[in-house]
Amino acid sequence: MLKHWIVIYNGMIKTPCPLCNKEMNEHNKSQIEKCLWKFVREAKNPVAYASINPIKCPECEKQMLDHTVSEANECVNQFIADAYFLFNSK
Ligand SMILES: [Zn+2]
Ligand SMILES: [Zn+2]
Repeated sequence: MLKHWIVIYNGMIKTPCPLCNKEMNEHNKSQIEKCLWKFVREAKNPVAYASINPIKCPECEKQMLDHTVSEANECVNQFIADAYFLFNSK
């Protein structure tokens, strides 16, 4: 019965959290929201943040700076979807 509810995570996040370096599944809800929020902010403005804290994309493992705007948007959306899926499947 219970097995039915266990969801095997099969998304695209390949790296630990780019913001705090913890595995994504070690975050609690407020941590995940904090990291997502930071990631969105930095991914949409990589030039401003890269010199302080360059982040590697958790979806395609490129530097955020190496993304075009549309690639960055795609990775951000995918990361948010994957992170919420991961969290909600716990
Ligand atoms: Zn994190
Ligand atoms: Zn990416």
